[in-house]
Amino acid sequence: MQVEGFLLNSQLAAKLMVLIFTFALMIKIEHLGIAVKDLGISNELFRKLLGKPAYKEETVEGEAVKTSFFEIGENKIELLEALNENSAIAKYLEKNREGIHHIAFAVDDMEGEIQRLKNEGFQFISETPKAGADNKMVVFLHPKSTNGVLVELCCERK
Ligand code: ZN
Repeated sequence: MQVEGFLLNSQLAAKLMVLIFTFALMIKIEHLGIAVKDLGISNELFRKLLGKPAYKEETVEGEAVKTSFFEIGENKIELLEALNENSAIAKYLEKNREGIHHIAFAVDDMEGEIQRLKNEGFQFISETPKAGADNKMVVFLHPKSTNGVLVELCCERK
């Protein structure tokens, strides 16, 4: 009986470990960020494309961006317009055309994911999560460590 109990417990422990690791990883692509020159024009373009309007517009002063969000299935599209020339979006548009600017992954355990990705050798623009749009805390990985793709990790702000 004791042996059976031990087996049962170790099976349970293994299942719990799988559960813990599942929760610690990225959940899904939360949104794609698209850099645009004029949010008004692009809002109208994406309204026509997706057949519905943005569900919110939000200014993030800390990032010097004006954003809008469209829901498409379980994912979102974030449009970003620069508020001024110091905005990362303005700098991006000096060198690039309008287009996909970043991929955002939803995570449950932000600190755990930052640590896991650091251990894997990824570099962060900043390791301290800060308030982003759409009620999220966000961090960005440096594109030089992710094949040139700016990667955002985001989790719900508590
Ligand atoms: Zn984003």
